[in-house]
Amino acid sequence: MSRRTQTSMSFWKCGHFSPVLVEEVEGGKRAKCLLCGECGEVREGSEEALRALRDRARQRDEAQSA
Ligand SMILES: [Zn+2]
Repeated sequence: MSRRTQTSMSFWKCGHFSPVLVEEVEGGKRAKCLLCGECGEVREGSEEALRALRDRARQRDEAQSA
């Protein structure tokens, strides 16, 4: 019995909370989710970079449920 649907559901529901890596890139910092591999936008500080990544997840969730 396959449970593929459940697996992809949890992937799309990734909120990028942990573990998240903040790496230094040209122009600032960028947060990368180690769970699903998604990267956020480049921001000046690591906190802003983290927020950008999580905002992205929230927007994606809203788009999915709409
Ligand atoms: Zn993630």
